[in-house]
Amino acid sequence: MAKLVLGCIADDFTGATDLANNLVRAGMRVVQTIGVPAGPLDADVDAVVVALKSRTIAPAEAIAQSLDALRWLQAQGAQQIYFKYCSTFDSTFTGEVRGNIGPVTEALMDALQCDFTIATPAFPDNKRTVFKGYLFAGDVLLNESGMQNHPLTPMTDPNLVRVLQAQCTRKVGLIDHAVVARGAAAIEERIAQLKAEGVSIAIVDAVSNDDLLRMGPALAKLPLLTAGSGVAIGLPANFGLAPSSQASALPKAGGKTAVVSGSCSLATNRQVLDFIQRGGAAMAIDPLRIAAGVDVAAEVLAWAAPLIDKGSVLVYSTAEAGAVKSVQGRLGVEEAGAMVERTIAAIARGLVERGVHQLVVAGGETSGACVQALGIAQMQIGPQIDPGVPWCHARSDAAPEAGLHITLKSGNFGSDDFFTKAFTVLA
Ligand code: ADP
Repeated sequence: MAKLVLGCIADDFTGATDLANNLVRAGMRVVQTIGVPAGPLDADVDAVVVALKSRTIAPAEAIAQSLDALRWLQAQGAQQIYFKYCSTFDSTFTGEVRGNIGPVTEALMDALQCDFTIATPAFPDNKRTVFKGYLFAGDVLLNESGMQNHPLTPMTDPNLVRVLQAQCTRKVGLIDHAVVARGAAAIEERIAQLKAEGVSIAIVDAVSNDDLLRMGPALAKLPLLTAGSGVAIGLPANFGLAPSSQASALPKAGGKTAVVSGSCSLATNRQVLDFIQRGGAAMAIDPLRIAAGVDVAAEVLAWAAPLIDKGSVLVYSTAEAGAVKSVQGRLGVEEAGAMVERTIAAIARGLVERGVHQLVVAGGETSGACVQALGIAQMQIGPQIDPGVPWCHARSDAAPEAGLHITLKSGNFGSDDFFTKAFTVLA
């Protein structure tokens, strides 16, 4: 078995997939695990991304989970550790707690006896850039991007040196764009200078993929990196790996095809409409009937059984904002969400048990529920369908022989024809 070179800890599920996707495109073979695995790694890969759900939990709990992941990755021989957070640099924010990115970073540094690391959420492909330490989302500063009003993790200061310093006991500094533009040697020189000044963590500017690629070689010797998913594109080359179709190779796809969607995002609404307009077989789920005690999952599976032999089917609770609000008003936001998630997860499992071995799932929370219902513990990352959304292959007790191909599309990702196009990518 090849040696695991990069061990990654991601603070949320779809963020983990985003990172894994970037690593695969840069030439690494990658599996993503759902939480910290109980046993040793049983896949021949270059990198593992352990997906946690630590982004919005208390720092002490986020630290405990992250250290748990670190110990597992070290036991698998990981040579370098990558702590992945969101490209908007947000995490738990309550009165006295101003984020857990700093506390988790410092706990990992302590555990790794690491005296210097970087922090950059830059992801130019997704329009997140860092300049002079200030984070931009699209054309505006982070605190003008809507993130200042986020219900769980508001970001009111775009200056990442200040934001991170407020979360850390170690000194935070900056490697600015003038240095990054001069290349890896200049970055290494600046790291030495910052260390001499007592700085242990540096925000690094990056406004383009070229910046990230220049950064890559300068990071080769650091035991720990902390970043969004962008920094990943410059790392595989440090381990002698180059982009290749082999990195994304999955077992051959077979079986029937289906789409389940519990996402109500605008892009998903367009994707549902597109599938129906192309004449696809589709069935809507009504949350009020689930609440009334109807076995909607059984109904849907009976409807789907004869159809999946002929082609793809779509099962969706996707609805427009007004309809969702009205359902939430009657059932409660969390109750409605949990009920729909449970039903879609049961349908996903039922479809897989009936021979659907290529499954598209739309919705972040919905994906979590489906992965759990399918008993999936890890996924091998394959070819990209659209930015941030790769096909994966997973073992599941619902598909005991060949496993299944699954893709998890978070809300606003994917082109309008995603529900059709996805299957042609796999073919
Ligand atoms: P996204 O990635 O688009 O945010 P999620 O799956 O994360 O999608 O979140 C959508 C949430 O809305 C889920 O909890 C889901 O169960 C819930 N939901 C889906 N359809 C409806 C509906 N018609 N009415 C109310 N809630 C819904």
